[in-house]
Amino acid sequence: MTERQTGRLYGVGLGPGDPELVTVKAAALIAKADVVAYHSARHGRSIARSIAEPYLRGDQLEEQLVYPLTVESTDHPGGYRGALDEFYEEAAARLAAHLDAGRDVVVLAEGDPLFYGSYQHMHKRLAGRYRAEVVPGVTSVSAAAARLGRPLVEAEETLTVIPGTLPEEELTARLAAADSAVVMKLGRTFPAVRRALERAGRLDDAQYVERATMPGERTAPLAEVDPDSVPYFSVAVLPSRIDRTVPPAAGAAADSPGDGEVVVVGTGPAGPLWLTPEARGALANATDLVGYTTYLDRVPVRPGQIRHGSDNKVEAERAEFALDLARRGRKVAVVSSGDPGVFAMATAVLEAACVEPYRSVPVRIAPGMTAAHAAASRAGAPLGHDYAVVSLSDRLKPWEVVAQRLRAAAGADLVLALYNPGSRSRTTQVGLARDLLLEHRAPDTPVVLARDVGGPTERVRTVRLADLDPAEVDMRTILLIGSSQTQAVARDNGTEVVWTPRRYPPV
Ligand code: SAH
Repeated sequence: MTERQTGRLYGVGLGPGDPELVTVKAAALIAKADVVAYHSARHGRSIARSIAEPYLRGDQLEEQLVYPLTVESTDHPGGYRGALDEFYEEAAARLAAHLDAGRDVVVLAEGDPLFYGSYQHMHKRLAGRYRAEVVPGVTSVSAAAARLGRPLVEAEETLTVIPGTLPEEELTARLAAADSAVVMKLGRTFPAVRRALERAGRLDDAQYVERATMPGERTAPLAEVDPDSVPYFSVAVLPSRIDRTVPPAAGAAADSPGDGEVVVVGTGPAGPLWLTPEARGALANATDLVGYTTYLDRVPVRPGQIRHGSDNKVEAERAEFALDLARRGRKVAVVSSGDPGVFAMATAVLEAACVEPYRSVPVRIAPGMTAAHAAASRAGAPLGHDYAVVSLSDRLKPWEVVAQRLRAAAGADLVLALYNPGSRSRTTQVGLARDLLLEHRAPDTPVVLARDVGGPTERVRTVRLADLDPAEVDMRTILLIGSSQTQAVARDNGTEVVWTPRRYPPV
């Protein structure tokens, strides 16, 4: 007796709605199938089936897989997940029975089967046991962009696809960091998505597409859409920004002074891994970037954006320059490394913004990770207890003030994070600081020397305070000096970790 061949399983994408957007391959498979299966809600209507309708023979078996629930509550002991798992198991068993009997099964999927599609739950359960093939379809992402007639992603732009069901804070962060984006699954999530777009500063760019390529299609600027009118079959789109009309040159008549602002953006100590979504968004949204050339060079070039690089001296002039641009309607990002409030540009901008003629220019600060925290993470947790932050530069304060603060911090047994320890022209401060601290701290106090943390030439080492060599310190180095409690401990794999306990012995 020959064993009967089992049937084949096909997950077939149908595209976004227009039956002419069904692929030739999908149409042929639908027409040939023994069994046509589709998921539906309890109301029983299936958008997938209606798209496939023109290709059905009429004499095929149909398996309607009806979700026991959508988002309403359930009395299943496993909760919502448990109820769904049981439903998928049972649906897969029904399809398996057809496959065992040698019947080919086509599972219809609106859009693409592997893109937020119900077919995936069948595929995961059946593809290991039966021959299964997935036929891709045109997604709602492509359909929405096509119906808007707007470029979606160009050149180095990235596309972020976001389910609207995420928590509002998460939506905001994703949208703030996104170039182009598509938010799926609107409907009851719409008010949160709209608020997130607004908080991310992207509401004006956002487009709305409902039932793309289906009967009843609607497109509109998202800000104009009545939230009560939004169905599940709709998406929000942030199209390519490169397509935006290139902003006119600074001072041109087209700038409306009301739009101007200055955002002082902290880019973190190194690359994009430590850039907050807010900072990334502020950099992308700016018409003008202002900053020290070394920091500006770390920001990717965007077409249409004007870069005003300068040296790292005269911060006050740079601040006034940025505020002047904003007064003329430009959206200015002042770029600062690390956190802009830590020995950086935020103070200079605020100082200027507190006197005329800049008092009415909107100014915001987008924080960044400061060098001390990045360096500490590489060494372990040396800043785990109370610590003080001091700049060793005597460019803006007399050395005697620095020395006095180091003495006070050392006397209080604080861990110290020392910024600006030295440069080509300032070579004496590290030696002076070391000798001063040795009056209060043991010679074997751990000192973390962290250079270019997160950058291509990163080097982090721990030395004894007595062995701290000023020649090994430069502009790109930060020093973390332990307290009397800070430990440097070798672990099994040969690495050394530095940490400061959270307890402190009674004094
Ligand atoms: N606003 C910056 C600090 C500016 S002062 C911040 O919050 O990090 C400049 C000093 O910061 C440098 O001299 C150095 O001490 C420190 N620094 C900045 N980036 C660093 C990095 N990637 N690695 C080590 N030190 C760094």
